[in-house]
Amino acid sequence: MDKVIYLDNAATTRMLPEAVEGMIPYFAEYYGNASSIYRLGQESRKAVSRAREIIAESIHADASEIYFTGSGSEADNWALIEAARSYASKGKHIITSAIEHHAVLHTCRHLEKMGFEITYVDVDEEGILKLEDLRKAVRPDTILISVMFANNEIGTLQPIKEIAAIAKENDILFHTDAVQAYGHVPVYVDELSIDMLSASSHKLKGPKGVGFLYIRKGVNIRAFIHGGGQERNRRAGTENVPGIVGFGIAASQAAACMDQEAGYVASLRDYLIERIEKEIPYCRLNGHRTRRLPGNINFSFSFIEGESLLIMLDQKGICASSGSACTSGALDPSHVLLATGLPHETAHGSLRLTLSGENTREELDYVVDSIKEIVGRLRQMSPLYEDFAKGKGKAYV
Ligand SMILES: *Cc1c(COP(=O)(O)O)cnc(C)c1O
Repeated sequence: MDKVIYLDNAATTRMLPEAVEGMIPYFAEYYGNASSIYRLGQESRKAVSRAREIIAESIHADASEIYFTGSGSEADNWALIEAARSYASKGKHIITSAIEHHAVLHTCRHLEKMGFEITYVDVDEEGILKLEDLRKAVRPDTILISVMFANNEIGTLQPIKEIAAIAKENDILFHTDAVQAYGHVPVYVDELSIDMLSASSHKLKGPKGVGFLYIRKGVNIRAFIHGGGQERNRRAGTENVPGIVGFGIAASQAAACMDQEAGYVASLRDYLIERIEKEIPYCRLNGHRTRRLPGNINFSFSFIEGESLLIMLDQKGICASSGSACTSGALDPSHVLLATGLPHETAHGSLRLTLSGENTREELDYVVDSIKEIVGRLRQMSPLYEDFAKGKGKAYV
């Protein structure tokens, strides 16, 4: 593989070498089943406990409140489906936002088919949840509010404390999909009054295929996967010991380096945003300028197709995304960008760049130069741009 400039860290991350190293003994040396009595099994059990402690501490929770899952998507499905089932006798109304990840949105569609009613609260132009609309959506039969901590496409950080307070005042459970936020910005369940929280290892330099659901003590949601007694009878399935070990190492490193890493990455982000805005006409920064993830950049460029831009960037060794990895390939424009009020035409011409601490300013200079050249070339081929240059039509952004 030629050297690439990797700017798609919201899709997944390169694993931390220490996490890879730390996992290796748990494949061939300490391969015991964590449920077994003999010492070989206990080595696995101890490793899982250690990772659980590290992760619990990182969100100010108790280890007994952390349940390992097979992914962030599984954690979201579990939280929503089982909260709905377990609290259905109290009511069948759930509130979420219009810009959730599909792991939440498609689960909500599923719940609608099961007879639950969902309200999708709107966001403003910068992608921030409208708190007044949330307050108005609350009903006596509302059993759950689920709003993501940070958006995966435009990086917007939601007012989680305020949202959780509204849930608490009304005696409603509050779940947050913190998959993009966890390991990148502080996420503390007690300070923020979060009842349930989903996270995923591969978004913070850990291995793929492991996540967790935090369930506050006293929140009585049932098991989602049935079988053996693993995870205190709440999530069956032989533990993914190497995965959990790698997750623990990545989480510990992320917590230790968070301030420094976020500061560096945010400075790269702001540099890139400044250069694009200065040098490329008819573009729009999507999301909130400051209340956003340190590594997230999302731009719309008028008169171009995001897919063409991505393919041409790939030819230059640059990995980027036009929205979320799950929507690219589909022709529908991003539901997140549409929710912020972008017209279809502009939503189609969007580019998401998500940075990590491994990126450098030199790389970004090459990236901006490449985007500039490609956007220019694509516009030269666009009939809409030709009309616009002649004074007909408008630039949308
Ligand atoms: C990636 C992502 C998920 C899904 O996590 P997986 O571990 O890949 O299943 C859920 N929500 C958000 C916001 C994400 O970015």
